Amino acid sequence: MMCKPLIEMVIEDSLVESTTDHQRKLFSVHGDHDGPSIIFIAGLHGNEPSGVHAMQHLFRAIEPLRSSMKGSVHGLTGNIGALRSSDRYLDTDLNRIWSVERVEEIRQGKFVPQVRDESEQVELLQAIDEILTADTGPFYFMDLHTTSSATIPFVVVNDSLLNRRFTRQYPLPIILGIEEYLDGPLLSYINELGYVAFGFEAGQHDDPDATARHLAFARLSLHLCGVLDEEVFPVIEDAQFLEDASNGVANFFEIFYRYRISEGEHFEMYPGYVNFQRISLGQQLATSEGKPIYADRNARVFMPLYQSQGSEGFFAIRSIPSIFLKLSALLRNSNADRLLTWLPGVHWASASREALIVDRKVARFFAKQVFHLLGYRSRRRDRDHYIMKNREAASRDEAYADAPWMR
Ligand SMILES: [Zn+2]
Repeated sequence: MMCKPLIEMVIEDSLVESTTDHQRKLFSVHGDHDGPSIIFIAGLHGNEPSGVHAMQHLFRAIEPLRSSMKGSVHGLTGNIGALRSSDRYLDTDLNRIWSVERVEEIRQGKFVPQVRDESEQVELLQAIDEILTADTGPFYFMDLHTTSSATIPFVVVNDSLLNRRFTRQYPLPIILGIEEYLDGPLLSYINELGYVAFGFEAGQHDDPDATARHLAFARLSLHLCGVLDEEVFPVIEDAQFLEDASNGVANFFEIFYRYRISEGEHFEMYPGYVNFQRISLGQQLATSEGKPIYADRNARVFMPLYQSQGSEGFFAIRSIPSIFLKLSALLRNSNADRLLTWLPGVHWASASREALIVDRKVARFFAKQVFHLLGYRSRRRDRDHYIMKNREAASRDEAYADAPWMR
């Protein structure tokens, strides 16, 4: 263990609940016993301050419990400049610029930030890397957000078995597969490193309950990771609070459609949609350049956009039957994906067998679901091909082998 202060709290009490000043590192609390590291990221979008407020409350709750604590808990601030002006971002979305290439450039000192949000990225990566170096892990990354539309709280997660297994402990809906639709979110990058990492959306930006939900989620997370035991840190009420807030919806859902807003396009969501609302074929959802956009099947609407900044108009989701979840775990654990390369138009992208290059015609014929089932998520590579990455390949399963949720 490195020698370091047991507690670092940057924010003064007088600033609690204020969004006028922010520090990259909100707090780090190191317990007296070895254990996991939880890293909360709050305010990655500047118009979503409730996670920052919740972290201030969390710090005050756990600081006196250090002697009972296993591992460490860290609170990091996302986009400080955007939090100051209450904007989602200043020049570019801080949660869409975490490509592997970009992160490598930053780490090698070759990256020169062009805009303010990119400077924030450099600082935030440094803060994350410091924790990854100083602590022993296993590591859990949790990204705290709110949405522009009214919503029950929910978890968004890249679809790896490790992520599924951890997140199914929450009494909340779990949305799988966001990584196929978003470019460069921070947590997809963290997942590439093999850690458990996911996002928690607490409600609408101005929902008075958002901070309380972020706090309940964080408290419950500490318990689920094994940082604090029930006797010293009871979380039954927190779990109940989240369960009530999500109206008992605790299924796994998958995203199967995204409406992407083009540069300069005038998009307007039809008023009144709430997250998870059921939609039926032919229902008007939005307008683009004044022309209506209709649902092309029955589904649920997800993340309808009710703010001016943002490039995803809405998503459509459907629940995943539990038999399908079990089947995919079975297939992934038995490396059934090796058989995929027997198909014409499917071959490994490299010798490490972590990604497949798939002819788009083949992907159309063997529905993407087959690839999903086997743990692959697709990105368009060029006009004729997808690159499909295996989400299981990077997972650091052995690092979590002793975690309470693995038993
Ligand atoms: Zn957000």
